[in-house]
Formats: sequence, structure tokens, C-alpha cells
Amino acid sequence: MMIHFLGIPLQFILFVLLWLGIGYLSFSLARSTRRNWRQIRHHHAIPCTRCRYFSGEMVLKCPVNPKAALTDQAVDCPDFMGRVD
Ligand code: SF4
Repeated sequence: MMIHFLGIPLQFILFVLLWLGIGYLSFSLARSTRRNWRQIRHHHAIPCTRCRYFSGEMVLKCPVNPKAALTDQAVDCPDFMGRVD
């Protein structure tokens, strides 16, 4: 015996709802992954932790550009100097 809702078989309605849910979850997952990937790339563009002048201290992170260290202003820092290990 088939159950109908407004003349449409209930199984068909559940099938459509299930695939709409799966589609929405997939879309949400893709969107959040893209957003997180963009944030990771942005944070990786800040070069301070690879810079010779970066002290790692909480008080004075960088003696050359103390206000710019570890912020967005440091992305294209002209004073960046790579570490020599
Ligand atoms: S000189 Fe520039 S890149 Fe180096 S630690 Fe200071 S702000 Fe960051």
C-alpha cells in the first residue's frame, strides 16, 4: 500500500528531500573548505615567522617594524630578510 501526500507518493517526496539534504551538505562543505583554504593561504602570506628580524617575543616581535609584525601589513614587508640557518 502506497501512502500519498497531495497526490504525490510519499517515497518520492522523501527521495527528493534526501537528495536536497545531501546537496546542501555537499555545498556547505565545499564552501567552508574554500573559505578555510583562503584563510590558510592568507596567513601563510605573512612572512614574519620566516624573517631574520622576527624575535618571537610577546613584547617586541620585530624591532624593525614592531606594529606590522604578524599582521596584514607585513604581507609585502620591504624589510623582510630570510633566515640563515
Ligand atoms: S621585518 Fe617585516 S617581515 Fe620581518 S618580522 Fe618585521 S614586519 Fe615581519
